Amino acid sequence: MLKLIYIAIFGALIWLGLLQIRRYLTHRKDGNGLDAATTLASRIVPCAHCGIHIPEADAINHQGQFFCCKKHQKLEQH
Ligand SMILES: [Zn+2]
Repeated sequence: MLKLIYIAIFGALIWLGLLQIRRYLTHRKDGNGLDAATTLASRIVPCAHCGIHIPEADAINHQGQFFCCKKHQKLEQH
């Protein structure tokens, strides 16, 4: 019987812990909307041709590949 009580308490603690984690994650997602946008804008991607790393905003996105300049985009196509 005592074992059942322990299991119940332990289960409740885990449940509360998960609730806290979920609340923390939700709060973080909501509170840092601006930060998430900044992260997306300044994401660094490698050029598919030369491998140089450039901000995604400055890269040329062509069919899911990123290029540092139009020249490299053309070179990779042919
Ligand atoms: Zn390049």
